[in-house]
Amino acid sequence: TVTAPEITLENRFASELSELAVPWRAATVEKPQLLVLDEQLASELGLDPTWLRSPGGLALLIGNELPSHATSVAQAYAGHQFGGYNPRLGDGRALLLGELRDRQGRLQDLHLKGSGPTPFSRGGDGFAAVGPMLREYVISTAMHALGIPTTRSLAVVATGRGVQRETLVPGAVLARVASSHLRVGSFQYARATGDLDLLRRLADVAIERHHPAARDSDHPYLALFAGVVDAQAALVAQWMLVGFVHGVMNTDNMTISGETIDYGPCAFLDAFDPTAVFSSIDHGGRYAYGQQPVVAEWNLARLAEALLPLFAAEQSVAITLAEEALSVFRRRYSETWTDGMRAKLGLDATFDEARVGPVLDALVVLMQTERVDHTSFFRGLARVLRGDLSGVGGMGDRDALDSWLSQWRELGPDADAMDRVNPLYIPRNHLVEEALDAATFEDLDPLTRLLEVLRDPCTERPGLERYTEPAPAGSGPYRTFC
Ligand code: AMP
Ligand code: MG
Ligand code: MG
Repeated sequence: TVTAPEITLENRFASELSELAVPWRAATVEKPQLLVLDEQLASELGLDPTWLRSPGGLALLIGNELPSHATSVAQAYAGHQFGGYNPRLGDGRALLLGELRDRQGRLQDLHLKGSGPTPFSRGGDGFAAVGPMLREYVISTAMHALGIPTTRSLAVVATGRGVQRETLVPGAVLARVASSHLRVGSFQYARATGDLDLLRRLADVAIERHHPAARDSDHPYLALFAGVVDAQAALVAQWMLVGFVHGVMNTDNMTISGETIDYGPCAFLDAFDPTAVFSSIDHGGRYAYGQQPVVAEWNLARLAEALLPLFAAEQSVAITLAEEALSVFRRRYSETWTDGMRAKLGLDATFDEARVGPVLDALVVLMQTERVDHTSFFRGLARVLRGDLSGVGGMGDRDALDSWLSQWRELGPDADAMDRVNPLYIPRNHLVEEALDAATFEDLDPLTRLLEVLRDPCTERPGLERYTEPAPAGSGPYRTFC
């Protein structure tokens, strides 16, 4: 038998920001069935994986049984969706169960997605399907393994309830862990209430949880904003370096912490293409791969607008301060991207931008005209250094390639250093689809194998060749759905 451990779930958000929290309970699930559990993450949180697998643990993972002092809440937030402002979004199918202290003493939100309708559900049913919840689990696990800040997935539990989508599909609840669920949209919502005290308290919570150094600044709220600008610039640069397309960068899907959140219609690039869009609803290409830095900056301007009254009493002064702080975005983004590309190309970090810049610019042109497979290209370049020219075989314009290769080689790249940072295994779209399809029909083997591969993305292992190959020819354009 497994005895229920003493779990301390704090209700900080619910009590400190009660205006943004609606106490609410998860829908009852009669026969929960655990599909996946991240045991490593459970341990980091001080939760016993064996207990989590027991009926008592499962009851926590679906929100049906909470520690006696816990209050689950639906969080209120607003947001710009595809550029249009919606004053009231909020958790329409999600709940914050409370905050846990992890083994390192950091506060972590324990949150559910697919836990049933709430007062924020609008037209939605409040539920989630197995496929999309497993997609979030797979992609967030891969992002974490790639060293990219992200919310984490603790578990996916099948509910046994059918959910009506295009067809009737099996339902699931995702248990998600995040350093918080504060979003740009949380600030937009607080600002729109006109309650300055609420806005200030929200900002104070954000400072305490994510940007504690801001507290000691002469302008703590401006420093908070600068901290978010910095974190998001670095985050989006890291997305670009691995070819990640978020797909729905609405302001409600952008965190204050700088963690990637809300893996909906996201995907990784196969062929390098700045205009790549995978989401079935992104008709205008607003959230295309190459648009992501521009959109992030736009979203941060919306955050600045929400925070303006905290920057200075006089609006014109506040706007000037906000513009200055936001101007750091481009510099920070390009530094992070340039450093990352230098590492991907095995180049010494001491090379200055004047020397490396032209090589990087030429590379981007080459990648785009040749539509190279974004992930395997960089591993292929390392093979070229080792004398295997097939590493970049199949290039149309051999002259352009040779000229670029010689420019690059003059800088003295290190092949082993490249292989330490360039992933070989990413959640390729066709592999994710294969794993999700099988899991929907109760075969978890492809999912389990894929997760195993993705947890160590850079170390080449025998027998995993199929995980490195691009989508099979003729598989057509890839489309993702929310
Ligand atoms: P997203 O863009 O997926 O992060 O969601 C945008 C908004 O739609 C949020 O307020 C969600 O809670 C809400 N939403 C998404 N799917 C559902 C659903 N099935 N039922 C109710 N609300 C939903
Ligand atoms: Mg969302
Ligand atoms: Mg979503």
